[in-house]
Amino acid sequence: MRIDDLRIPESAKRVIIESGITELYPPQEEAVRAGALDGKNLVLASPTASGKTLVAELCALKHIIEYGGKVLYLTPLRALASEKYHEFRKYSILKKDSGGRIAVGISTGDYDSSDPWLGRYDILILTNEKCDSLLRHKASWIDEVSLVVADEVHLINDADRGPTLEVVLARLRQVNPDAQILALSATIRNSDEIADWLGAIPITTEWRPVELREGVLLGDEIQFKDGGATKIKRRVRDPSINLALHMVDKGGQALIFASTRKSSVSLARRAASEVEKLLSRAVKRSLESVSELVLASGEKTRISDLLAELIRRGVAFHHAGLSPQHRRIVEDAFRDGKIKVLTATPTLAFGVNLPARMVIISSYRRYEPGYGYYPISVLEYKQMVGRAGRPKYDKVGESVLIAKTDDERDYLFDSYILAKPERIWSKLGVERVLRSHVLATIASGFAHSEQGLYDFFNLTFYAYQYDIRAIRGVISRIMRFLYDENMIEVSGSKIYATTFGKRVSQLYIDPVSAIMIREALRCGASKLTELSFLHMIAHTPDMFPRLRASSKELDRLALFAEEHIDEFMFETPDEWADRLSYEEFLGEVKIAWVLKSWIDEASEEDIIERFDVEPGDLYRLVDTSKWLLYAARELAMLLGYRDLASQLTELRERVEKGVKPELLPLARLEGIGRMRARVLYDAGFRSLEDGRRAPIDELMSLPLIGPRIAKRIKEQVGGLVKAEEWDRLSKGEGTEQQALTEYY
Ligand code: ADP
Repeated sequence: MRIDDLRIPESAKRVIIESGITELYPPQEEAVRAGALDGKNLVLASPTASGKTLVAELCALKHIIEYGGKVLYLTPLRALASEKYHEFRKYSILKKDSGGRIAVGISTGDYDSSDPWLGRYDILILTNEKCDSLLRHKASWIDEVSLVVADEVHLINDADRGPTLEVVLARLRQVNPDAQILALSATIRNSDEIADWLGAIPITTEWRPVELREGVLLGDEIQFKDGGATKIKRRVRDPSINLALHMVDKGGQALIFASTRKSSVSLARRAASEVEKLLSRAVKRSLESVSELVLASGEKTRISDLLAELIRRGVAFHHAGLSPQHRRIVEDAFRDGKIKVLTATPTLAFGVNLPARMVIISSYRRYEPGYGYYPISVLEYKQMVGRAGRPKYDKVGESVLIAKTDDERDYLFDSYILAKPERIWSKLGVERVLRSHVLATIASGFAHSEQGLYDFFNLTFYAYQYDIRAIRGVISRIMRFLYDENMIEVSGSKIYATTFGKRVSQLYIDPVSAIMIREALRCGASKLTELSFLHMIAHTPDMFPRLRASSKELDRLALFAEEHIDEFMFETPDEWADRLSYEEFLGEVKIAWVLKSWIDEASEEDIIERFDVEPGDLYRLVDTSKWLLYAARELAMLLGYRDLASQLTELRERVEKGVKPELLPLARLEGIGRMRARVLYDAGFRSLEDGRRAPIDELMSLPLIGPRIAKRIKEQVGGLVKAEEWDRLSKGEGTEQQALTEYY
């Protein structure tokens, strides 16, 4: 089926054809034939890169241009949201029938706003959490939505992210029963069930744009499912590296999945000395500039140094400990074909689209502390091998598992290559997960009685799979709890949220977090410090990532806790009576201590050295803490603790910037991170007024500042600069590396 033959507006066809797409891929054709363009609900379960997004684009354009509709595109991750945003942006040149161009928007943060301005977008890309928060705030434009695209809908199976996704879908269907639903999914065994739940037509395909050859390496031979075999040269001891080298030798790239951060780094190190030998001079030169970009981005740490060194040799690692900027540099350089071998933890398989000609699964086992080793799921295996083969570049993609014996090879064939992915199951039926959704359902007026609550939860996938009776007991326990904690009131058969309950729901925090914060603010601490507040938020169930105190840290953390005992707002668990809670407490103390070091301007390297907390973890801690400190501040205002509220406001900003209080005015300037703010401050520029009065060449001469940043400072603080000087600076712009902007 050709794009030209589709019943979509001509202008939309032109944009698609200009982007190089003229014919539909088979799964797309199937979706169109099933009624995607006639408003039918569909669940499209199809492998990665089989073109699911285009189906969403076609439907979206039809809705917007022809009916003046509004489209929500929901994704589980921020990184995916921005990927989709860039894909949809190309349509913003198109005109709607009603006049005006298509407005494409994205929103992934700030959970405490109804964002009325989002109403002006025709296509809005949101994370599931952001959509959930908009529903709680009753964003006025939600009922104008005529198409909902739910990406990666198989994530309903994920204990952390799944429940929000299914609640959001149920809620949107409750609010807008007529909106078309398009759910996109990896191939899973029970996509029919999801379709049935959504009143949708199921479409399942195994079609891929690039053929996939799945195999197992045993000794020096890969045996493929299709019966073929390939011999691999044994150059080093590690079979994953031999496979990768085999690929690089043939001019391709390899992606090695490792089970832990540590093993991803050690594999990359070991691969580098061999990969280096296979690089041409031109490739080495281009890698040199990627490596410099890494060094020029963000703070210098042992991780950035190692990453830069490995990139120079054609290899990189990718895991959640990398800062977001470094991760992006690695992704871009791999996509551009510069980096030849990338080692990654499995998180990569679920996030960004990063294909390689060969995917190597170095280990099919994972380790969980307290649980031991277990084999990965077929679904995870399929997601990983789904990365094999670069559309438009490779004719075939290969994926390889590694076996040590004949038996193991047979096991791997049976358990992964020939196996079907597991069924997915709703994870909503847990009290911890449900309580915030129960509160939100009442607080936003989606239910006014106990029966109303059951009616709503009856719309979820959980109720579809298990029957609502399975969670009635949990829901009524939660109601009792919310009532006891003064979050809801009951009058006859009617249920209302209290002002407190409403605010908690809007702030998008777990009711238990809110109760902890309420208690902490009420009782205070005998000595109230920044650490008190930082520990307060670390103690809430919303803190993420949770850090574990390793055995060698326990004594040090216990000592620190002892020294600061009168600063904590919660009682310390007894070390001897309840060892588990005590160690958990030390984990919270660790988070508080890391954050405290951060706002006291410890360097990232220092934080790695002292806490084994890597930049990516720190970034997520900072992100969550900003949100929780904001929520705590709002609760402090509501509960009448104005003093505490203003302390929390400052603390939040310090956590955001990673600075001591005196640096705040400088760190608020755009392009000035914590390091530059400190340089300016120590050079005597302590306020904006100092910056205004400073001659520009004095600013320029400071380390880390330079002409471009000096100009940006002047643009923001004002002050006199000679016209010719300004012109000279403006001309020089763009020649400096753009990577010099600090991240935090
Ligand atoms: P999925 O969402 O299934 O993972 P994508 O929608 O991201 O897959 O598609 C993968 C790539 O294939 C994209 O670069 C897209 O532009 C391209 N593509 C999609 N449909 C077609 C088509 N019909 N013809 C050629 N290329 C296509």
